Parts: sequence; structure tokens; C-alpha cells
Amino acid sequence: MVVGDVTTGTDLLIIGAGPAGYVAAIRAGQLDLDVTLVEKDAYGGTCLNYGCIPSKALITATDIAHEAGNAEEMGIHADPAIDLAGMVEWKDGVVDQLTSGVEKLCKANQVTLLEGTATFADEHTVRVSHSGEGQGSETLEFENAIVATGSRPIEIPNFEYGDEPVLNSKQALALDAVPDSMVIVGAGYIGMELAGVFAKLGTDVTVIEMLDSILPGYDDDLKRPVKQRANDLGIEFEFGYTASEWHDRDDGDGIQVLAEPAADDSDDERLELDAEKVLVAVGRQPVSDTLALEEAGIETDDRGIIETDSRGRTSAEHIFAAGDVAGEPMLAHKGSMEGKVAAEVIAGEPSAIDHQAMPAVVFTDPEIATVGMTESEAEDDGFETIVGTFPFRASGRALTTGDTDGFVKIVAEESDGYVLGASIVGPEASELIAELGLAVELGATVEDVASTVHAHPTLSESVMEAAENALGHAIHTLNR
Ligand SMILES: Cc1cc2nc3c(=O)[nH]c(=O)nc-3n(C[C@H](O)[C@H](O)[C@H](O)COP(=O)(O)OP(=O)(O)OC[C@H]3O[C@@H](n4cnc5c(N)ncnc54)[C@H](O)[C@@H]3O)c2cc1C
Repeated sequence: MVVGDVTTGTDLLIIGAGPAGYVAAIRAGQLDLDVTLVEKDAYGGTCLNYGCIPSKALITATDIAHEAGNAEEMGIHADPAIDLAGMVEWKDGVVDQLTSGVEKLCKANQVTLLEGTATFADEHTVRVSHSGEGQGSETLEFENAIVATGSRPIEIPNFEYGDEPVLNSKQALALDAVPDSMVIVGAGYIGMELAGVFAKLGTDVTVIEMLDSILPGYDDDLKRPVKQRANDLGIEFEFGYTASEWHDRDDGDGIQVLAEPAADDSDDERLELDAEKVLVAVGRQPVSDTLALEEAGIETDDRGIIETDSRGRTSAEHIFAAGDVAGEPMLAHKGSMEGKVAAEVIAGEPSAIDHQAMPAVVFTDPEIATVGMTESEAEDDGFETIVGTFPFRASGRALTTGDTDGFVKIVAEESDGYVLGASIVGPEASELIAELGLAVELGATVEDVASTVHAHPTLSESVMEAAENALGHAIHTLNR
């Protein structure tokens, strides 16, 4: 159908159907707002189509194969064969199920779905151009809007995506054959998660990182077990280097990635690494430059992040921003929370954004999960703290899973015991952190956590034991 230049109206326009935009749309629908959700690519955004879900599907699948092949200690002798095409087909099925669910939920909540690319024409109007030849465009007037256009991978000079064999995370998650070797540029969470996936598939992985350790921003004690497990998997690291260029090898067998020492005064030699593919994972940047934001009076910072207040409002009173485009941390659940708040504020409710109990998870092997403040952040903020820890090697349940690396750490206020934050590295850290997020959110004390009966034998007992340790009466470890 060719769409002519018609003008329609909506109370609330939402641009982008990722976890920020579609969640905002459903919440706004629940609040009886007249909502139009514009999406140019795929419902569910980066998270469902190219990020969280496909990466976690492949992490789980490769973990299963790896664990089955390394369980001699449990009396299991197996040598699993991996059919990557089959694995990718299964992963795509998971994605399809979720994205079609998003579409159905939006429709069931009376959200009008519009496929196309939106750009602002003025403070109350967008143009939506439809993809495909002859599909035309339409004009949409709105009372309020939420910009939820997400982020895209940052490109570095000389490594253009789409220039096979240079891959971004989206392309790496869609490969249909296992590369023999891969250089990964960047040891942040996406680089480290995918390093684990490919190493478990049998790829020789080398990670180049300009800083001197993996996972910048995380405490050393959390990173240690992850680095150790990566070493055990045979992942090589080159710290203090920046990737500068790549070229085909003279013998036609793959490519060579060149990397220079990151420090100007370094005497180290330039690196020349042979590989079949190079995956660039050096961070993500907001998608704000393609929206003609200036037409609507929306301001961004130097990085292109749309600045918002505690209700999600941009510099234009009636326009809100949520998700990656509104800044760090660029995580799906943070975007969904901001989307819900924006929808509720537009509907007249007194909602506000609170990042205090925002969890963050790295799905490496083992997983890292944090919420609230670390010990040093709490001390920098002037809190007198008590700290409780519990190592998984003392957990009966962890021993029965064969996965005992890591620990739970809880930080609380010394005077009244309020839980200020927690960090976990180890099995199921991503699930265990929820209890501690609830503790921070509710203003619970370590006493509350310690006196909550936890089922035995479970990994969650480790949370209770860490709280008991903070109080000096842990049962299964010596108290400090
Ligand atoms: C490999 C990878 C793994 C990840 N793993 C995790 C994880 O485990 N946990 C986690 O919390 N986060 C994870 N993330 C991050 C997560 O995907 C993002 O934080 C999340 O998707 C952000 O949601 P969003 O709604 O802000 O943006 P997006 O999900 O990026 O959605 C934005 C949508 O807007 C659309 N759009 C953009 N411009 C326009 C326009 N002009 N008109 C119409 N539509 C437009 C885009 O097509 C897109 O669909 C991962 C990311 C990657 C890349």
C-alpha cells in the first residue's frame, strides 16, 4: 500500500519499540492514553532481537555443551557435538516468540503500531517515512512524546561494520559457522560475554583491551574469578593495546589485526594477531542524531545523550526520553523502568525515576551481579559500613552443582543495619541479586535478610549467610 501525505493525531507518540518504548506503550495503554508506537525495524528493539535475549540464549546453549563435556568428575563422559546452525535456529525461535508476544501485548493494550522511521518536524509533529520503494511518508501530530530510540554499537576507525570479517555484536550473534579464531576488541561486558560463547564453541579467542583489566568499573575481587575462568577456557588477553587496522593475510588464510600500545610512552611492540574474524565491542552510543531533535527543542549532551529530569522530561516539557538514548546504564530494565515512569507522569501520576536499587548483571562465566553501592562507594559517601561475605565453596548447593567459585558480599550501614548494596560473583548471581535489590528498595536491614528463612539446599542461603556474617553470627563460615 502506498501511504500518501496524510496527517493523523495521537495523544502520546512513542518512538522506538525496544524495552523502553514498548513497555512505556503498554503502561500508557493501561492508563487509557491514546498511544501510537513507531518502530523502524523490529518489535522488542536491540534487547529482544540483537542483544540480551539472543546473547543469553547462546550463552546458555554453549554452557550446556561445555558443562556436559567437562563433567568427568560427576561420572559423566560426553563429547557434545555443536551444530551452530541448529543452535542459531533455536535462538531465533526464542526471539520470534518474544517479539511476536510484544506485538500482541501492544495491540491488546490498544496501542496503535506504526512501522516507519520518525523524525521531528516541529514541537508537536513528526514525519514517519515508511521503508521500501514507493511507500511514502505520513505526518503525525502529538500532545506528548517519548523518545526511546536506543543505541547502536560504536565504530572505531578502520573497522567498518558490514565489511566482512569485521563484526559487531549483532552480526556475531548471527554467524552460521564457528570461526576457527577471533580477535575481540574490548573487554567490557559484551566483549567478555561473547568471548565466553566463542571459546566454548571452540574458537581461539584473543581479547584486546586498551585498559589494564577486564570489565572496567567492576571491583577487582568480582573480576578475579571471571578472568581465571576465561584463562581456563584458553582466552588470551592483550591489555594496554588499541586495535588500529586490519588487512587480509598475504597467504589468503584469514586476516591480521594490528594493535598499537595504548600509552604514548610505551616501548612495547605493535601486535600482529592472525584471526578469521574480528569482533568490535567497544561500547554503544545513543541513537539521537537521526531524529532532528532540534526541531522539537530537545537538547543532548556532548555524547548525544538526551538529558532528562527525575520524571524523564527532556528540555521540551511535553517530550520525554527513556532507555539507552537517555544515558547510562544502558541496560534493558533501566529503560523499561524509565518508560513506565514517563507513561505514568504523562497520565498525571506522581512517578519518578530512582536509580538507587538498579541491578547490573554481566552474564560471564561466572556471572557478576551488583545492586546499590559498593563498599568503597558507600565509604566515599560518608557511610560507616559493615560488610558480610559468604564464599560459594561453603554452600552445600553450590557444591552439588560443581560450581563453587565466587561469593556474595553485602554492604550495610553500621549504625542501623540498612542494606546499602551488594555484589555477587558466582553461579546464578543474576537471579540471586533480586533479593538484595528488594532489600535496598524496601530499606531492609541485614537483620531482616539474616532472619528470613531460606530454603535448603539453595544458593540463596548464601545471601542469608552473608547477612549473618555482617552481623558476626554466620553459621557456615568463620565470622570476621
Ligand atoms: C549483545 C548485547 C547484549 C546485551 N545484553 C544485555 C543484558 O543481558 N541485559 C540488559 O539489561 N541489557 C543488555 N543489553 C543492552 C540492551 O539491549 C539495551 O539496554 C536495551 O535494548 C535498550 O532498550 P531501548 O528501548 O532503550 O533501546 P533499543 O532496544 O535499542 O530499541 C530502540 C528501538 O528504536 C528504534 N528506532 C530508532 N530510531 C528510530 C526512529 N527514528 N523511528 C522509529 N524507530 C526508531 C530501533 O529500531 C529500535 O528497535 C545488551 C546489548 C547488546 C548489544
